[in-house]
Amino acid sequence: MKSPSALIVLIVMLAGTNLWAGGAGSSRKAFGAAIENKIDIEIDSLLGLYKQIHAQPELAFQEEKTAARLAKELRGAGFAVTEKVGGTGVVGVFKNGNGPTILVRADMDALPIVEQTGLAYASKMRLRDRDGLDVGVMHACGHDMNVASLVGTARVMTHIKDRWKGTLVFIGQPAEEIGAGAKAMLDDGLLTKFPRPDFALAKGEQVNRGLGDE
Ligand SMILES: [Zn+2]
Repeated sequence: MKSPSALIVLIVMLAGTNLWAGGAGSSRKAFGAAIENKIDIEIDSLLGLYKQIHAQPELAFQEEKTAARLAKELRGAGFAVTEKVGGTGVVGVFKNGNGPTILVRADMDALPIVEQTGLAYASKMRLRDRDGLDVGVMHACGHDMNVASLVGTARVMTHIKDRWKGTLVFIGQPAEEIGAGAKAMLDDGLLTKFPRPDFALAKGEQVNRGLGDE
């Protein structure tokens, strides 16, 4: 994450929902400034989080450390967090008055790929895959950025909570790369044990597809 662009994309996507308390003209300008100001404050910490997650990738349904870190960060932002939903999944809920319920999803698992980027924070991780094979592991699909962006969005949204009303459901989904984590979370009651979303947002190509696996 060289820039807060992924974070801004998520916040802009949230802006497309009917979450906002309103405000136009100069107050909207002040609103934008409040968001940018908060991102400026958080960006170094988020970049550090991104690098830590990048350096410690975990395979599908083995996302123990990543899930624990995401849970800790969401709690730190004021969310009520439930862990081990559908295996290693994380669900954070932030209730902020009457309004729509918005689900935002981050994937958490990495791929069985040996990292050759030469970056200072490159992964040297090796793990056993589902077949028991020893494989190199890398965040080659950007799920490290998914998690860092979700945490950043949580920090910004709670910081500006006087500007919107509704409920946020932020999830860390396991095992997206093997197409199994979304179903595992649904089977474990994602839509019945937690507030049911009016909108679901996720990264990139999954915008508006919500809970689907790639
Ligand atoms: Zn992916």
